Amino acid sequence: MTRPIPRPSVLAIDAYVPGKSAAPGAARVYKLSANETPLGPSPRAVEALRDMADHIALYPEGSSRALREAIGARYGLDPDRIIAGAGSDDILELLALAYVGPRDEGVYSQYGFLEYKIVTLAAGGTPVVAPETNYTADVDALLGCVSERTKIVFLANPNNPTGTFLPASEVARLARSLPSHVLLVIDAAYAEYVLREDYESGVALVDAHDNVVMTRTFSKIFGLAGLRVGWGYGPAHVIAALNRIRSPFNVSSAGSAAAIAALSDRAHLDAAVAHNARWLPWLTQEIAALGLGVLPSVANFIAIRFPETPGLTAADADRFLTSRGLVLRAIGAYGMPGFLRLTVGAQDANERVVEALAEFMRTAPSPHDAQRDAQAHAHG
Ligand SMILES: *Cc1c(COP(=O)(O)O)cnc(C)c1O
Repeated sequence: MTRPIPRPSVLAIDAYVPGKSAAPGAARVYKLSANETPLGPSPRAVEALRDMADHIALYPEGSSRALREAIGARYGLDPDRIIAGAGSDDILELLALAYVGPRDEGVYSQYGFLEYKIVTLAAGGTPVVAPETNYTADVDALLGCVSERTKIVFLANPNNPTGTFLPASEVARLARSLPSHVLLVIDAAYAEYVLREDYESGVALVDAHDNVVMTRTFSKIFGLAGLRVGWGYGPAHVIAALNRIRSPFNVSSAGSAAAIAALSDRAHLDAAVAHNARWLPWLTQEIAALGLGVLPSVANFIAIRFPETPGLTAADADRFLTSRGLVLRAIGAYGMPGFLRLTVGAQDANERVVEALAEFMRTAPSPHDAQRDAQAHAHG
């Protein structure tokens, strides 16, 4: 018996598994596993969505013109060099489909966002992984992976799940050093959260090069993850290529309307930035003070490193926290099984996480005890 067989590179994909959202038995669940904003969407976006309800029998305008114009006005960009998509995942997929084929390579870094591997394989290409240094992308390592066959280098800046970032000077060096046949895709999904002066989202590099594209999303700080709206900004020739292959109505009328309204609400965005600026350092300090490792993050989440001591591992912590309704993200699929990723939540969620982690560290054997035991064992 025969049946239709997908291409081998499709069968090589491990399907993306989103963070879990349930905590069976817990009285209240705090979902801190998907980097969603605790502030929710702008009320203006919700109102725009409601207003759209009467019009959903109609197809959207196919080029997302109104949305591209609103984005262009807000960020000072040419709407003709913007493409909108069903989340930035849609744009990443279009980029791979347009530029990567069989025998071509897509390069990304060791702990880079998993979508890059998925879209490279989905397009029929070969993923090539550049090692990182201190859980941070390494420009020289990325450049070292580039060959004649490389079509795209993907860089999440800041990166998910590590939260680390490359300063503008390093990303500029990457853009400058890449051969001109290679497209550099800068995924700036968390750009709005970054308050570092040495950070640049990618706009300047798109403007300076013919082979750089930036992707952005309404899923994170704008709080519209459920509506699936993202966008890309790039050279006209890249946007034209993507427009040839995108599905004709890839952004819903509801998503466009909500995103346009969300862009108009500066106060809501400022509140989300301020909330993160307050709680990201607080969580980082409090959790580090418990003796856990915390990667330095500039985004709205942190990667927490747990000891390897039985009883104190990331898997143990995951079970412990989940039983208390605190749902974090296990990131073993990223090659970081010793870590959990925590999204900055509302004040009560953040305080509960720190309390629960303190309790976890108290109830389990302390790493010092375990170390002493191990040493006693070794010496005795
Ligand atoms: C969340 C995220 C995205 C955005 O995904 P959408 O499809 O826009 O919801 C893109 N890149 C990274 C690194 C992310 O973490």
